[in-house]
Amino acid sequence: MRDGVLVALDTPTLVIHGGAGVEPGDLTPQEEDDARKAMEKALRVGYAKLQGGSSSVDAVTAAITVMEDAPQFNAGRGAVFTHDGRNELDTSIMDGSSGMAGAAAGLHRVKNPILLARAIMEKSKHVMMVGDGAEIFAKEQGISLVDPAYFRTEKRWKALQDALQAEAKAQASNTPLVLPGKAYFGTVGALALDAKGNLAAGTSTGGMTNKRYGRVGDSPIIGAGTWADTGCAVSGTGWGEYYIRAAAAHEICARVRLAGLPLPKAADDVINKDIPKAGGDGGAIALAADGVMTFPFNTGGMYRGWIGSDGVPHVAIYKTDTLPMPGQ
Ligand code: ASP
Repeated sequence: MRDGVLVALDTPTLVIHGGAGVEPGDLTPQEEDDARKAMEKALRVGYAKLQGGSSSVDAVTAAITVMEDAPQFNAGRGAVFTHDGRNELDTSIMDGSSGMAGAAAGLHRVKNPILLARAIMEKSKHVMMVGDGAEIFAKEQGISLVDPAYFRTEKRWKALQDALQAEAKAQASNTPLVLPGKAYFGTVGALALDAKGNLAAGTSTGGMTNKRYGRVGDSPIIGAGTWADTGCAVSGTGWGEYYIRAAAAHEICARVRLAGLPLPKAADDVINKDIPKAGGDGGAIALAADGVMTFPFNTGGMYRGWIGSDGVPHVAIYKTDTLPMPGQ
């Protein structure tokens, strides 16, 4: 539904990110290849839903589930560790056509957090649930719970040890630690435009390495990390505190809806001007109801990709990679 008119598109579209913050040299060729393959799989699985006539919410859920299961990304298995050595997961989803939303934060045992966000949206009276209560609801809904050890990967454990060391060093020398090196990257997000012209957005993350217990970032906050309305959908990735203060995802769509800005300009202004000006960094993906998509980011890379009418997944990682755009 767009401007009160049902738009039948013959080209449904799916756009994903696997997080900003990845820098050239961070990945081995094997890791890079695995990440590309995982993104391609997420795009194919999500797009198959759209081609089969399923909703944008179904496509977003399917694509994010694949990326949560892939240890390459900081969501589900492979999530980063908190300061006290746990994995604490945050997620959200929004249906642009109905304006309904679901979110969960501080999860330790939900295998696929995006499934819980969706259940909260569709099966509860609430928008957001946290911690133990959210996990009780997950169990009631038949959503898989796992032993917290399921989420652990050695790479993320080492990243925590490095961050703790850097923090201790900074404290000992009394130098302010601006960002505990490589604190974030690998959050996942997806946006879909289905055959009826409806948009949806979703985001899932382990948050930032070395975050304090109970810290919640932007990813599960509707309007900060995730937003979808009838004209525009956004999923963010970056230094969450800045995204919350900027209400980043909603802000981008509000500038399109109220100020009439083209989506790429609105997204670029918020992500590459406003957030860095405030001291933050990161990226986002944004998709408009007419199929226009944009991928602004200001780190050395952002896992990103899209799939449309040609049915071919297009993916990129670093800033220097070219991501072909639709029609090119
Ligand atoms: N935005 C996420 C957070 O602050 C992290 C990320 O995108 O990598 O929790």
